[in-house]
Amino acid sequence: MQKFKEEIISNKTLSQDQLDSLNQQFEMAGPDEVLLWGYYTFGADMVLGTGFGSSGMFLIYRLWELGINVPIFYLDTHLLFNETYELRDRVEKRFDIQITRVSTDLSVEEQAEKYGDKLWERNPNRCCYLRKVLPLRKYLSDKKAWITGLRRSQSKTRENTQFVEWDPENEVFKINPLASWTGQKVWNYIHSKGLPYNPLHDNGYPSIGCIPCTQPVDDETDDQRAGRWNGSQKTECGIHLPTQ
Ligand code: SF4
Repeated sequence: MQKFKEEIISNKTLSQDQLDSLNQQFEMAGPDEVLLWGYYTFGADMVLGTGFGSSGMFLIYRLWELGINVPIFYLDTHLLFNETYELRDRVEKRFDIQITRVSTDLSVEEQAEKYGDKLWERNPNRCCYLRKVLPLRKYLSDKKAWITGLRRSQSKTRENTQFVEWDPENEVFKINPLASWTGQKVWNYIHSKGLPYNPLHDNGYPSIGCIPCTQPVDDETDDQRAGRWNGSQKTECGIHLPTQ
């Protein structure tokens, strides 16, 4: 498996040794250096994926300030909050950009006919696979790298996040400029620059996804992924890490 991974990586121009060395260097650098490296390496074959959370707001702003013009996309499951769509519109206007909508052709009604009503309650992994994982895979199939807002401090499952990683599911490099940042550091930056953000964050939602699978939580929690798939063991939708 390791040999297979190394062969894929070397075919895509980076050896595992180069990746390890880069990641070591990026521990001492900031998000801008990682973004600039990504742009010099992959050009416009690098894209930014966002769910319009705090990390996404930070990254959209940094790309804009650095003059890095790469496609920005979001996964529209057809089940997002109105506040999320409104934020998308505000961001497009403020930065004068178009954010690409990536979505399944399967409507929520068609999904209910085929798999039964409220699949997210009975089999959320299947629902995420249909509405997120497959559309993402299709979109990334002709790309070389995607930037994400993944941070190590977000959860136990994300604690090993590297700045640059090979994503075997989508066969692209994954670039995580905020891997070593805390959530508080990102929020401090957002407030210091007056960047737009989802108002649901001020109403008890630390993490915001689809309406049926996102709940407000107690103010006291320090779990930055709290409120997602409440009442189940699931913590990941499958686009970054295997479903848990
Ligand atoms: Fe379905 Fe919930 Fe996953 Fe959204 S987060 S795709 S509603 S299971």
